[in-house]
Amino acid sequence: MEKGERRRHQLAIRWKNPWEPQWMPASLRDTINNRYHSRDFNYARSEYLRTRLLFVGLVFTLLAPLWLLVDYLLLPQELLNSIIIGRLGLMLVLVGVLFTAWRNPNKLNRLRNALALLLWAPAAFYAYLVLTYGDQLSSLVGYSFIPMLLIAFLSVFPLTLVESSAIGLVIFVVELLALSITGGLSTAYGWQDLWLLATLLIISLWANHSQVSALLRLYRQASMDSLTGLLNRGILMKQLNQLYEQRQKQVEDKEEASPITLLMFDLDRFKKVNDTYGHSVGDQALQVFAQILRSELRKNDLVARYGGEEFMAVLPGTAKQDSLEVAERIRKQCEHAFVLAHDGQKVFFTTSIGITEVRQDEKLETALQRVDSRLYMAKNQGRNRYIDADLPQDAPVHPYA
Ligand code: GH3
Ligand code: MG
Ligand code: MG
Repeated sequence: MEKGERRRHQLAIRWKNPWEPQWMPASLRDTINNRYHSRDFNYARSEYLRTRLLFVGLVFTLLAPLWLLVDYLLLPQELLNSIIIGRLGLMLVLVGVLFTAWRNPNKLNRLRNALALLLWAPAAFYAYLVLTYGDQLSSLVGYSFIPMLLIAFLSVFPLTLVESSAIGLVIFVVELLALSITGGLSTAYGWQDLWLLATLLIISLWANHSQVSALLRLYRQASMDSLTGLLNRGILMKQLNQLYEQRQKQVEDKEEASPITLLMFDLDRFKKVNDTYGHSVGDQALQVFAQILRSELRKNDLVARYGGEEFMAVLPGTAKQDSLEVAERIRKQCEHAFVLAHDGQKVFFTTSIGITEVRQDEKLETALQRVDSRLYMAKNQGRNRYIDADLPQDAPVHPYA
């Protein structure tokens, strides 16, 4: 094999995500925004976000009225009334935030909005105090540090950098306005406050980045197959169940239900590849096959290593006719792909494929059994082919049984 061809081949087996901007370090790309996060990771992150949101929300909701005791002891009577009104308004918003977080597990967007409100509401309360008391504010105990406190609390949450800076910058702008209203911008103390706030924001962003990367690392370790970089079977089944439940809900609500198609693959005579060329060549073939699956499937499709040399793809929102074309493309690409044996010889391999759509009136297990049986029919009929579940209606359930 000539050198260029060998190089192209080595590149093909390294996992390259086609949606990834190549110039950015992967760890940063993953924490800037959630564009590259899977649906399931979003669920996992929203669970962390929600727990912390409930806890911090509860602390804020309790502190808002409790601090009145301090106000009562320290503030002159004429200031108290408007502070009580402001604090009651704040408490109402915080109760709303708690309620939203409580009612919306797994809804990342709503939880993000609730979190923004959790931190912006005290900032609005602070702005209200600034507008009401102007430069007297710095003499009120426990008020001038509100923006610092809010920015510091940002670090508690597993937020992406975009989410965290959007929330933090609003608070920063509130402080900037407050300082310009109270005349603080013409004093060194005002600039010191701004400097401190900016530093706290950077520390929070760093904490957010670390949290999201750690969560992603843990999530990937728990959900990925280490040889191919595809999902593992456990996480695929979890996500497939979620898709199925969503679809059943659409059916119950009489909405237009989106199709779910299953494709199951098994490499043909793979034992022979291992026995003839060794396990490391077999492993490379599995990686090349995974790369073919990734390149032929869309970002929203789920693709997993189901077992040794068995793979499963779930195509949500794809009608069966389209998935037949996908299967044929994968079959063909596989037929042309090869890996190199230790002596430089090209080793070709093929795949058999079972295809079915999950019907609306059946359990998921039934569809899984059907796709499995169609895969084995493809084996029985000579391998290197796909079998669509709807074609031979009276096919035996498991030809090898
Ligand atoms: P068929 O066409 O009927 O599927 O034949 P087959 O030889 O592929 O079927 P069989 O299930 O008997 O063999 C599967 C082989 O896949 C056996 C095992 O050595 C190999 N295999 C499973 N996991 C791995 C792996 O991680 N790496 C390598 N190299 N081989 C694996
Ligand atoms: Mg096989
Ligand atoms: Mg097998």
